[in-house]
Amino acid sequence: MRTDVIVLGAGIVGLGLALNLQERGRSVVLVDRSGPGEGTSFGNAGLIQREAVMPYTFPDDPMTLIQAALNIRVDAYYQMSSLKAVAPWLYEYWRHSSDEKVAQSAAARAPLFEICLTEHDKLAAAAGATAQLRRGGWLKVFSKEKSLADEIGKVNELEAFGINAEICDHRKLSQMEPHLTGDLIGAVHWKDPYSLAEPLALSQAYAALFEKRGGKFVEGDARSLQQEGDGWSVETTDGRISARDCVVALGPWASDVTVPLGYDLPLGVKRGYHMHYRTKGNAMLNLPVLDGDTGYLIAPMTHGIRLTTGAEFAERDAPPSYVQLERAEPVARSIFPLGDRVDPEPWLGRRPCTPDMVPVMGPAPRHKGLWFTFAHAHHGLTLAGSAGRFMAELIVGETPFCDPAPYRVDRF
Ligand SMILES: Cc1cc2nc3c(=O)[nH]c(=O)nc-3n(C[C@H](O)[C@H](O)[C@H](O)COP(=O)(O)OP(=O)(O)OC[C@H]3O[C@@H](n4cnc5c(N)ncnc54)[C@H](O)[C@@H]3O)c2cc1C
Repeated sequence: MRTDVIVLGAGIVGLGLALNLQERGRSVVLVDRSGPGEGTSFGNAGLIQREAVMPYTFPDDPMTLIQAALNIRVDAYYQMSSLKAVAPWLYEYWRHSSDEKVAQSAAARAPLFEICLTEHDKLAAAAGATAQLRRGGWLKVFSKEKSLADEIGKVNELEAFGINAEICDHRKLSQMEPHLTGDLIGAVHWKDPYSLAEPLALSQAYAALFEKRGGKFVEGDARSLQQEGDGWSVETTDGRISARDCVVALGPWASDVTVPLGYDLPLGVKRGYHMHYRTKGNAMLNLPVLDGDTGYLIAPMTHGIRLTTGAEFAERDAPPSYVQLERAEPVARSIFPLGDRVDPEPWLGRRPCTPDMVPVMGPAPRHKGLWFTFAHAHHGLTLAGSAGRFMAELIVGETPFCDPAPYRVDRF
């Protein structure tokens, strides 16, 4: 089978790209070893985070660092057996967390976040999935004055990026979310973002649109990728697929294909877990709520309240450890009446990250017709539309809507 473009990986990033390529007249085959949206894109917190222009950084205040070193925090945890393997990446992450580097990363991220909502609006409208994009934003709640004050500082900083937020006192927060309990003093309501009740459903709606437009989804192993004549080929259950252009959109598994080709990029993972809970009595949440003092999120979803954890530093394929979830769950129960667990075991995902928290997007420098789009870190769902548009523009030879330099493959 021959096509214009092979996209390796049918996560939300690959899907966003495939739809944008089709809109520019390209035939596309999506190759994945499992169903669309069943990788990292399956289990995230469902936020389309217009406000997340500033990258999450390595902590710099002494108390946080001591707690992190002692491995007693909820929002960050490391597996001791992986420490040696992940230490070089952590060092690079620390290096990229200086004020100067963070400002550079924010400038690189800003154009992608600026259009993240409108690009999802377009894709969702075409896919008949507009109703999935829940308006109303999300809440970051606090019980400590200092952390609320810090977040208010961010509100002021982000105003320059056109981002809307409201500071809520305890009374206002109780009106918005009457079932929150505990000693919360207030919240920042980030008003622009969307949220999803089921991230998989959005991937499936985008995949259905892709197939309706004539795109083909096939099962195959991306590691069979080979350079062939003036293009690329990959083995699938439908036989060999060939194309002039091929895009690696494999999220945390990108290195399985890029390393054998000689591209050893600093791709790390911040692992995270989720678990669904029933609610007690008639309790309900209207919006996703992030506990800003502790660092976990609870969100109203199709299968119950989804609790997602912060960052676990461990090798990508290390066995799961449920320490963070065990630590977050009792704290979450103190702010919301969570009932029994729903899932037989927690879901584990891997946020694909570079040390500068800027995605890798662009042509592979030493291989004609090969393109990379991965490492969208904490925000692959958020950026699926804007990154898809950017990459499609590059691949078809249009002028991309923003400067490609900050995302270059060879910037490290
Ligand atoms: C706990 C948690 C919460 C998160 N919350 C949010 C959030 O609220 N908002 C947000 O924007 N982002 C969030 N993220 C991040 C987001 O989920 C990721 O950035 C995003 O899913 C990455 O998408 P992707 O398409 O690049 O990767 P994936 O979804 O992982 O897709 C890669 C695909 O490649 C396939 N694949 C891998 N290897 C092979 C192979 N050898 N052959 C064939 N196919 C292969 C996989 O099956 C998979 O489908 C969160 C992540 C986690 C873990």
